[in-house]
Amino acid sequence: MPAPDDNGFAGMRRNMVTYQIEARGVHAENVLAAMRHVPRHLFLPESLRWAAYDDTPVSIGRGQTISQPYIVARMTELLELDPDSTVLEIGTGSGYQAAVLAEIAHEVWTIERYGDLAREAERLLEGLGYQNVHVIVGDGTLGCAEAAPFDAIIVTAAAPHVPTALAEQLSEGGRLVIPVGDTSVQELRQYRKQGDAFKEARVLDCRFVPLVGRDAFGESRDGTP
Ligand code: SAM
Repeated sequence: MPAPDDNGFAGMRRNMVTYQIEARGVHAENVLAAMRHVPRHLFLPESLRWAAYDDTPVSIGRGQTISQPYIVARMTELLELDPDSTVLEIGTGSGYQAAVLAEIAHEVWTIERYGDLAREAERLLEGLGYQNVHVIVGDGTLGCAEAAPFDAIIVTAAAPHVPTALAEQLSEGGRLVIPVGDTSVQELRQYRKQGDAFKEARVLDCRFVPLVGRDAFGESRDGTP
C-alpha cells in the first residue's frame, strides 16, 4: 500500500483522526488506521491541499466535493468491513473514500458519473499502488450487476430514496449506508439486509451534493445539461 507523500502532512493527519474522528466517537481501529495512512491531501487540487485536513468538505471541481473527514470515517465504520469484504461505492469523486475502503476491504468497485473525475481518481489510486479498486464511469443508481452481490454499499451523494438496484445487489446480511432526503438536507441511514427485509438505523443529519441519475434526482439538480 502507498508510502504517503508526507512533507509535514502526517502530523495534520494524526490530529485529524484524534480530534475530529475519535473525539466524535468513531472507534473502529481499521477505520482509524486507514485514515491515519491515506494521504488525503493528494486527492485535492494542489491549490487546496492546505485545507485537506480541515474539519470540512473541500471542492474538487465540477461543483463536487471530497466529504468532511468525520463523515468519511463514520460512513466507513457503518459499513462494518473486514479484510474479506467486497464493497461498492457510488460517487467516486476524488477517490479518497475509495482509498480508505481499499485499505480495509478485499475489493472495491466505485462508480462516478463524471468521466474526468473518474479518470483522475483512477490515475491517483493506481499511482498509490491500490490494485483492489475498480473505477467505473456511469450511473451508480443502477449499481454494478456484474460484480454483485456486495457485502457493503456506500452512497456518497444525497439520494431521494434507496435506489432499487442497490437494494437488490446487497448480499444477505450486507450493509448499505446512504444519505436520504432532499437536495438541501438529508439523514444518514444504515440499512442491513435480512432476508426480504431491511433493518434501518437513522444515524445523523448531513448535507451532500445530489445523486443524479435514473433512480435519483434529475440532471437539472446539479446544473448539467
Ligand atoms: N466519495 C467522494 C470522495 O471521496 O471524494 C466524494 C463524493 S462527492 C460528495 C459525490 C460524487 O457523486 C460526485 O463526484 C458526483 O459526481 C457523484 N455522483 C452523483 N450522482 C452520481 C451517480 N448517479 N452515479 C455516480 N456518481 C454520481
